[in-house]
Amino acid sequence: MSATETPATETTFSLTLSDEQRELRDWAHGFAENVIRPAASEWDEREEFPWPVVQEAAKIGLYGFEGIAQFFADPTGLTMPIINEELFWGDAGIGMSIFGTSLAVAAIFGQGTPEQIGTWIPACYGTADDPAIAAFCASEPNAGSDVSNIRTRARWDEAAGEWVLNGQKAWATNGGIAGVHVVVASVDPELGSRGHAAFVVPPGTPGLTMGAKVRKHGLRASHTADVYLDDCRLPGDCVLGGREKLEERLARVREGGKAKSQAAMATFEASRPTVGSQAVGIARAAYEYALDYAREREQFGRRIIENQAIAFTLADMKLEIDAARLLVWRASWMGRNGIPFENAEGSMSKLKAGEVAVWVTERAIQILGGNGYAREYPVERWHRDAKIYTIFEGTSEIQRLVISRAISGMHIR
Ligand SMILES: Cc1cc2nc3c(=O)[nH]c(=O)nc-3n(C[C@H](O)[C@H](O)[C@H](O)COP(=O)(O)OP(=O)(O)OC[C@H]3O[C@@H](n4cnc5c(N)ncnc54)[C@H](O)[C@@H]3O)c2cc1C
Repeated sequence: MSATETPATETTFSLTLSDEQRELRDWAHGFAENVIRPAASEWDEREEFPWPVVQEAAKIGLYGFEGIAQFFADPTGLTMPIINEELFWGDAGIGMSIFGTSLAVAAIFGQGTPEQIGTWIPACYGTADDPAIAAFCASEPNAGSDVSNIRTRARWDEAAGEWVLNGQKAWATNGGIAGVHVVVASVDPELGSRGHAAFVVPPGTPGLTMGAKVRKHGLRASHTADVYLDDCRLPGDCVLGGREKLEERLARVREGGKAKSQAAMATFEASRPTVGSQAVGIARAAYEYALDYAREREQFGRRIIENQAIAFTLADMKLEIDAARLLVWRASWMGRNGIPFENAEGSMSKLKAGEVAVWVTERAIQILGGNGYAREYPVERWHRDAKIYTIFEGTSEIQRLVISRAISGMHIR
């Protein structure tokens, strides 16, 4: 075959979105533009959970069990990050109020039995007319980056056939206002993180109460709070994966064998690319806004974009956002298709996207000058919102730790 001939084989690699992906993206974008954006400033100022917006998202199927199942069904893995990018382009605080539930859902989906998945995932969302939210509670006051230090204890009460949970959870998104809570607790403290298990706490279970609500720098529409577990009794079948499997796993670990997964880490690993796509959405919002502003604003008799200092910054912003998105899409595709993250590709995507979002939103403030610093303009909010992406779901330092361990095979500290 000569160099000019086109091979007769099918294209095996393409970044062209399918019709369905484009339709879903445009649908999510429409909701972000027409419903989320106009409400963003108000809910940020009120620092309250935006129930009316979540209810509207539920009504059109954007929030709910069927919606999430449809996004996840895409075999390329791209629909989930695409939808997240659009919603968080609208607003991150409201976006997190809509997507915060998915962390609990990821834990149930990743670790639950088919029966648990069938029962509890729909319960996390409630119904289109009466939506509910869910919370994933791993972090504690003394167990943030170091999840192995979790102190919340789960004890099996043989006589009652129940689990009894005691402890304090910190920083839980939707904590205390959720219906379903998924709580990571230690069943055998001597085994560190390998002695952890995740438990579904059904709505209204006595013994689970909300502690202090956190007043935050950004993401203020999203609810974050401590959660207390005080002799919280759960039916025997509430441990994800089932008690029999848990006992087998613990026995294996006690005999010196390997545990296949650790309850909190497995959930975070799976959700990192999606979290990265949220950061990409915030960054894109700020970039687009700054680009429009730079085209309009005049100083020294010319538009500010005509200065290379501004134009090159915008070029770098676009470059970094596209690079971050490609890392997110790669990890999402790998995750959906069961390709192991041998070089911590999930962590890479979240690390890059989080740092890009902070950098891009800070540059956007600079391009808007004084207006960038004023609350009448959205870019200062986007910068506040972006910062969380270098902190939660594993800080940037922890992502670098995960990547450096993966590429070196050594226990880097
Ligand atoms: C708005 C918000 C929502 C959240 N939502 C949830 C949720 O829904 N569920 C949940 O379980 N948790 C949630 N979290 C908790 C979040 O995951 C933790 O805050 C995060 O993991 C960091 O833990 P930490 O705050 O205890 O910081 P620390 O672990 O105390 O870290 C402090 C600093 O030390 C650095 N550091 C720590 N260890 C190392 C190391 N070995 N090497 C280098 N540097 C290190 C960190 O990178 C960081 O810069 C949320 C937090 C926030 C702020």
